Amino acid sequence: MSTLEDLLKILEQQNRSGNGRISLLPNFRRHKIAYDLDLIHLAYDYAQQAHEGQLRRSGEPYINHPLGTAITLAKMGMDQETIIAGLLHDIPEDTNYSLVDVEKNFGSEVANLVTGITKLGVIKYRGMERYAENLRNMFISMAQDIRIILIKMADRLYNLKTLSALPAEKQKRIAQESLEIYAPIANRLGMGQIKGELEDLAFPYVYPKDYDWIKKEIMPKIAKEKEHIERVIKIIRKELTEEKIKIISLHGRQKRLYSLYQKLKKPAYDGDLTKIHDLVALRIIVPTVADCYHALGVIHRHWKPLPGRIKDYIAQPKPNGYQSLHTTVFCDEGKIVEFQIRTAQMHQQAEYGIAAHWHYKEMAGRPKKISDKGYTLPKKFAWIQELVNWQKKIHDHQQYLKSLTIDFFRNRIFVFTPKGDVIDLPEDATPVDFAYHVHSWIGDHCAGAKINGQMSRLDGTLKNGDVVEIITDKNRKGPSRDWLNFVKTSAAKARIKTASIK
Ligand code: MN
Repeated sequence: MSTLEDLLKILEQQNRSGNGRISLLPNFRRHKIAYDLDLIHLAYDYAQQAHEGQLRRSGEPYINHPLGTAITLAKMGMDQETIIAGLLHDIPEDTNYSLVDVEKNFGSEVANLVTGITKLGVIKYRGMERYAENLRNMFISMAQDIRIILIKMADRLYNLKTLSALPAEKQKRIAQESLEIYAPIANRLGMGQIKGELEDLAFPYVYPKDYDWIKKEIMPKIAKEKEHIERVIKIIRKELTEEKIKIISLHGRQKRLYSLYQKLKKPAYDGDLTKIHDLVALRIIVPTVADCYHALGVIHRHWKPLPGRIKDYIAQPKPNGYQSLHTTVFCDEGKIVEFQIRTAQMHQQAEYGIAAHWHYKEMAGRPKKISDKGYTLPKKFAWIQELVNWQKKIHDHQQYLKSLTIDFFRNRIFVFTPKGDVIDLPEDATPVDFAYHVHSWIGDHCAGAKINGQMSRLDGTLKNGDVVEIITDKNRKGPSRDWLNFVKTSAAKARIKTASIK
């Protein structure tokens, strides 16, 4: 069980280095986060007093829960206010202490965060309405202050870890909600570590039989893979060292069970484990981008790459900001191994996503504090505000969920403007969706489209990696209502409806 000392130790280390994972980040000028340990201690004492005598369902003292939440936030490298709010997050709802009290003692910024979390907790609907309302509230608080959702994620993570203490029906609901709401949001925010943990904790409660099957089939295979990977690590370490590439970290990473399960369910895999080549992938972390490409060259000189499996997510990051080089090679004895190569900063971004923006001065689009009410969102996450803007217009729960399924939860593709800017769209989006995403004027005056240099119909389907050029006609009076039959995004639909009613 974690103690206050554990929390203080993490924070103290970050005070010294600016970041707890110093060994990964030798060359980085980190954003200096100075924690006032006395104040954190005080917040802990305050929370402990407030929850005095309360027990969790598991029988442990209640304080363990807010403490665990705060520790997760400290590991993410969140700021002091967020960590204090993590310690105090259940006070207004579950104790006799009031928000006014919290504000008096810890200031309005902390009080605002705690209010945000308390609001998220109060949902008066049932069934589908509950689900829709839950999502609306999540997005509103995300746009208001993204830190609220990060606290909620840490809170949920702890609850999932102690889920076995709850009645079966509640277990299933909480686990399902985690898979359907929390994990996809963590994913869109680029928080791979949190997403993976949420999914793997929820998996056995939602699909117990599949979970047991995977565990039984996979575990022995993973053990065997690891032995092989150890041999590959030895070889590649020697090669990289000979080339004078500094290795920050070189290790095998095991694929998470839920993500493996999702992959196996796809038609291309059809439950066939032999088609999965990244059960254990090899991860190389090096200091600079140049080192990444150098390391890739070293690997390809030693082993032949599988055609079509080299992915350069450094030059073309995924829509959620993920960056790495991936390659899959034929190793000795006909074994196939996937390599993932990245810098320490990319690694931080891949694991903690938006939370990593609090670490680095260098990271583009670091959230800027606007007031003690919140932070501006980095440009990459501007879609959160857009989502909130259009959700205000949709009142029907069913319609809301339907459009959200397409806009937010469906798989995303990324396509390019002729200049190489990346546009992030839902699967099956059309050139008209693309046009509206770029600018509403371009959408309204869209007359034709070229996909990869070829003329295309306006209702054509865009694929990942397409280069899309929109041909506009400035004499065009406005959009055609017929476009409503094929556009996919809510933004395009809403605009066509209003602009074509003339
Ligand atoms: Mn809680």
